[in-house]
Amino acid sequence: MKVGLVYDPIYLKHDTGQHVENANRLEAIVSHLEQTGLKQQLTPIKPRPATVEELSLVHHKQHISHIQEAAQKGGGWLDADTVMSSSSYDAALYAAGGAIKATELVMNGEVASAFALVRPPGHHATPRRAMGFCLFNNVAIAAEYARAEYGLEHILIIDFDVHHGNGTQEAFYDNSQVLYVSTHQYPFYPGTGSIKETGNGIAKGTTVNIPLPAGCGDTEYEQVFEQIIVPAAKRFAPQLILVSAGYDLHWADELALMQVSVSGFAQMVKTIKELADGTCNGRLVFSLEGGYNLTALAASVKTTLDVLLGNTNIKDPLGQPPPRFATPSINHLIKEIKEVHSLA
Ligand SMILES: [Zn+2]
Repeated sequence: MKVGLVYDPIYLKHDTGQHVENANRLEAIVSHLEQTGLKQQLTPIKPRPATVEELSLVHHKQHISHIQEAAQKGGGWLDADTVMSSSSYDAALYAAGGAIKATELVMNGEVASAFALVRPPGHHATPRRAMGFCLFNNVAIAAEYARAEYGLEHILIIDFDVHHGNGTQEAFYDNSQVLYVSTHQYPFYPGTGSIKETGNGIAKGTTVNIPLPAGCGDTEYEQVFEQIIVPAAKRFAPQLILVSAGYDLHWADELALMQVSVSGFAQMVKTIKELADGTCNGRLVFSLEGGYNLTALAASVKTTLDVLLGNTNIKDPLGQPPPRFATPSINHLIKEIKEVHSLA
């Protein structure tokens, strides 16, 4: 069972200075994978740059040239949160291309599943603009590529980053061939992702938002996966599963207020893998989004890869969260979402 890992040092050249989304994130992950010996269990995948035509499957031409021109001028701030450098356009092409390449090898059966260890991240980038540390929407582009290249008609995107993937939602809001399912802290940045946002026209029902109160941990996420995500996914019968894998819901992450542990990620990934095995011959592609506590991020990505490889004896070096919140009850929320989406 081969598991692919997309990585290239070009991702470090997206220079964001002192920004929380910086090159140290990938360096921490890679060195942890090397030190623990996990890297040698993986099949290395060399990314290629996405073409402008591929970016255009999701993004407007003006947005693409805006990013290209900003890089030529040396970079700078695109909005209050999002900064780029002169190499960021190239890095972003390789980030989207990395997600594409991972999808290609999974579709061709060269690897069973793959993880695209890329930056800049993607899920906040909308068809028309960069935002939330994201320039181009890597996962959305990979999904459109899979539709265009392989004629897939049912693609599932699971987005467990602690923030709502507004860009991905927007890209597929009218598209019934892509089921977008997101768990996120709510209300929170970027403000979108309420239960009532379910898709438009024929795509009504193919956006499933699971807006969670702060303080949710392993138990709540397990409940959500079992009671909403798995049944919604099985009903949709995906041919490919893409995952916007953000790890900023770890309890040690300072950007948000969730309580998930490394063991919790292992359980989530196990559920996603079983879902892929049961619905689409295991075709599964992860692409990195957020995650800002370097120790938690590195351990969580390693755990994800351990589960994909079928390794047992998975360790959680950070353990369970210190008591910080009263655990919120989400039973009522789950019931409401099941009603909105007619899930038994
Ligand atoms: Zn995030």
